Amino acid sequence: MSELHDECGVFGIYKNDEDMNIVDETYLALYALQHRGQIGAGIAVNNNGKMTYYKDHGMIPEALPEAELNRLGVGNIALGHVKYSSGEAVDHENLAPLVMRYIKGQLAICMNGSITNFHDLREELNQGAAIFQSNGDTEVISYLIARARINAASIEDAVREAVNKLEGAYVIVLMSPSKLIGVRDPMGIRPLCYGKIGESYVLASESCVFDSLGGEFVRDIRPGEMIVFDEDGIHSFQVIESKKTALCLFEYVYFSRPDTVLDGVSVARARQRAGELLAKQHPVEADFVCGVPDCGIESAIGYSMASGIRYATGLIKNKYIGRAFNDRKKNSEYLMRIKLNALKHNVEGKRVIVIDDSILKGATSRHIVDLLRAAGAKEVHMRIASPMFKNPCYLTSDTTPKEDLIAAKMSVDEICRYIGADSLGFLDPESLPEIAKECQLGFCDACFTGNYPLSVSDISRSDKYSHKIEL
Ligand code: SF4
Repeated sequence: MSELHDECGVFGIYKNDEDMNIVDETYLALYALQHRGQIGAGIAVNNNGKMTYYKDHGMIPEALPEAELNRLGVGNIALGHVKYSSGEAVDHENLAPLVMRYIKGQLAICMNGSITNFHDLREELNQGAAIFQSNGDTEVISYLIARARINAASIEDAVREAVNKLEGAYVIVLMSPSKLIGVRDPMGIRPLCYGKIGESYVLASESCVFDSLGGEFVRDIRPGEMIVFDEDGIHSFQVIESKKTALCLFEYVYFSRPDTVLDGVSVARARQRAGELLAKQHPVEADFVCGVPDCGIESAIGYSMASGIRYATGLIKNKYIGRAFNDRKKNSEYLMRIKLNALKHNVEGKRVIVIDDSILKGATSRHIVDLLRAAGAKEVHMRIASPMFKNPCYLTSDTTPKEDLIAAKMSVDEICRYIGADSLGFLDPESLPEIAKECQLGFCDACFTGNYPLSVSDISRSDKYSHKIEL
């Protein structure tokens, strides 16, 4: 139950099947991506060059009411987005997709990630008298594309020119009047893949979407690749080169759904492996092992398999509270009590190993230990299926400051005392890449090791949100 906020989720569909309703498909796809963002959601539909859209705050059912979806038209291309952001002021203008008019008609765009040279790009555009309605990265990218399109021979050329100005971690999905386009950042930090439903093409942050829609996964978009779907089929271009790749390891730890296969590795399997490694690195005698829902469950199963200690349910999560609710009530004890409860029947009188995905600030872990003790646990041994989270991530929507990260200011023993556990163990950072060892990409593990894939001078400018909130 990470205290790190979620990523955003992106989706795009290019329809080749007569009887397909792409608004319905997009709506369902966003349900499959709901875990990546609960602040808001939006759908944009391309009706032969005329774009309609609807977006609002909240989880899918509240953000996208049926009456509004019915007004979007039938369309042949659509985009969908679920939003999470702790840094940006999330007013309506910052929701996505962003639909704009420019020299070639209309353009709709959405993204996931963080542009680290946002300040410079926005300042450059400001000097050209650009007028912004939002304070987010997406509008800056759309401006860059619109400017480039003035002289570019095609939308593909304009996107190529624009993304070569970006630094950071991102995936972008956009639609022009006749094309659906996806781009993945040159280091492949953020995930993007494509699949098929019938004869239609779909782009999504995670492969679990294709399963949910009854479609099939085709492949991951390569780092620096632009993929284009149009009436002639699929076109692939390597639009940005990079000497290294750095897929976000936290996607395996927390962001992605367990039924997603990310760059060749099952997320569920990666989490189980983390549990197996933990069992070897931090063994302890106990009566049973349980996981903190949702992301700790697979790791607890892995710990159980490797240690021979039986797996059982120790904590029950209220499934009807979105992670966005967290923001309204912060980490209040009240909220945490509603979100999570201990299963007294299983826990009472037992020595419990509890596995969670990560510890950021420590308040949630302390609450979990309290819950288990209040339910009668004789001993509580906490194991964390990732290394100590010591460094801010500048490459997601959430940049929790270093001073708030408990591992940046306390040792393992001090954290153990703070959360009130009998023992505490984190995954060894050296072994973290093993959880996704079949992946052909390099990894970003900067939040654990401090080895950022971008130069520190680039990312140190990423206190961009303070700038954004001023607006
Ligand atoms: S710093 Fe951590 S959360 Fe951020 S991109 Fe790298 S691995 Fe992912």
